[in-house]
Amino acid sequence: MSTVLESKPVAQAATQSANEPELTDGFHLVIDALKLNGLDTIYGLVGIPITDLARLAQAEGMRFIGFRHEQHAGNAAAIAGYMTQKPGICLTVSAPGFLNGLTALANATTNCFPMILISGSSEREIVDLQQGDYEEMDQLAIARPHCKAAFRVLHAEDIGVGFARAIRAAVSGRPGGVYLDLPAKLLAQTMDAAKGKASLIKVVDPAPRQLPAPDTVAKALDVLKNAKRPLILLGKGAAYAQADEDIRALVEKTGIPYLPMSMAKGLLPDTHAQSASAARSYVLAEADVVMLVGARLNWLLSHGKGKTWGQEKGAKKFIQIDISPTEIDSNVPIEAPLIGDIASCVGELLKGVDASFPKPPADWLANIASRKDKNLTSMAAKLAQNPSPMNFHSALGAIKEVLKDHPDINLVNEGANTLDFARSIIDQYQPRKRFDSGTWGIMGIGMGYSIGAAVTSGKPVVAIEGDSAFGFSGMELETICRYDLPVTTIIFNNNGVYRGTDVNPTGGKDVAPTVFVKDARYDKMIEAFGGVGYHVTTPEELTAALKESIAAGKPALINAVIDEAAGTESGRLTNLNPQSGKTK
Ligand code: ADP
Repeated sequence: MSTVLESKPVAQAATQSANEPELTDGFHLVIDALKLNGLDTIYGLVGIPITDLARLAQAEGMRFIGFRHEQHAGNAAAIAGYMTQKPGICLTVSAPGFLNGLTALANATTNCFPMILISGSSEREIVDLQQGDYEEMDQLAIARPHCKAAFRVLHAEDIGVGFARAIRAAVSGRPGGVYLDLPAKLLAQTMDAAKGKASLIKVVDPAPRQLPAPDTVAKALDVLKNAKRPLILLGKGAAYAQADEDIRALVEKTGIPYLPMSMAKGLLPDTHAQSASAARSYVLAEADVVMLVGARLNWLLSHGKGKTWGQEKGAKKFIQIDISPTEIDSNVPIEAPLIGDIASCVGELLKGVDASFPKPPADWLANIASRKDKNLTSMAAKLAQNPSPMNFHSALGAIKEVLKDHPDINLVNEGANTLDFARSIIDQYQPRKRFDSGTWGIMGIGMGYSIGAAVTSGKPVVAIEGDSAFGFSGMELETICRYDLPVTTIIFNNNGVYRGTDVNPTGGKDVAPTVFVKDARYDKMIEAFGGVGYHVTTPEELTAALKESIAAGKPALINAVIDEAAGTESGRLTNLNPQSGKTK
């Protein structure tokens, strides 16, 4: 394939003579379809058959951000989709590249983030007869169960329709991941340029508003008004909806305490008087009516049942706002479902919240306030301790203070203990600024989300990473340095998965399954690519390094040495580990 790039179609440049009609090709139609729909950034990794697609996209003024592994390109695209309500675009090669991207596509779908994974693929005729093509794989069939929709385009004149379908599927209704299969032959197909242009579709209203039925709004308001101990639970669907002012107005006008799920933190500042985060266990167990706004009653919320929800005290009433009707009753009965997009639903609810709307009973608010005070005081004492070596609390206490002065920073967070502690200790002040392990509770999103967030927002990113979690995407430090992104990665280094103290019970040569090389210098990794590395062992050093790196706005990595004995197995998910009966 030619490496010389022209802004006019390659096919035209190669074959056209004076009287022949102007031609275009699959490469250009793909790029034009993206641009026509305002999609200007591709996250990907080049190779056969999509290298020229990336080159031409760049030549046509799009951004191409090249990664070292497709999973992280996919994660970057997914978080860009979450931040913008436009599908993030990930481009990969066939078979292994596609499979690497598929992990991110499945994760995006699980989290309700809109993205489109575009993969080059081998020729249909050979794949379908299993004749052994280069990187042969039936990618469409493999992708289908792991995403919201999957399409293949075989003819250049269908590229416009293929993208229109992919965009609509990604962002309408419950957002999610879409797979678009582009066989190598399609990219090189030529057609009349004017007809090609006319075949493209600019998608009109890709995520139409979905208004809730008036009787369901009235029912929800009625249940809420009659609550003795009401609670609003905000999920990342609420953050995605970008209805920030109305959500804040609903919380403040009703006076109802609210609890944000981790990625909904910052929809209202965590320091807000009505936040019940510091009394989480109490409000979940005691509330009699809970209004879920873009949050699912999945494992993260103990399925709405059991001790967490005070089941022994009697059933709760749930109101659930969601765009997906089939989400309702998925775990427990929902008294008042409100189906529609969150912006419309909250807008309709607000119309029914006037001065006569009853305020929550004073004893409910007072009980929450006293629980909060008690918990915040004991947390402050923990954060103020200064043990040597540092532990999770003293390190996070230092970070919390620095980030107070940077309310618009993007925060990426993953790990086990590092995730659990940071989620509750670090305050968020603005919506859609916290990106974490999400619905699956996975590791590996760190550098991909950091790159996606930095590219999308143009603002600094701080990634708080367990040393194990960082390992999944660590090579993308090179990507961060290559694009000179303002990303500061802080590694909570306790020498292992969960902690670094396990020993091999046999005394044999191999170390225990959970430990890493002791005293690893992750800061040296970023130095290899021209970034700035810091090695810190005290909260004071951590504070100074973080302040300096944020001010510099350059790629940096802080290796924060934590007590290797600090950390619990599986963080707060110890209960999910099956127990060995110690049989032999
Ligand atoms: P969390 O993990 O924060 O609890 P979830 O990912 O479980 O959040 O839930 C998000 C929910 O929000 C999903 O059920 C999804 O259907 C819903 N959702 C996403 N976007 C919208 C929207 N614009 N309007 C209404 N519901 C939405």
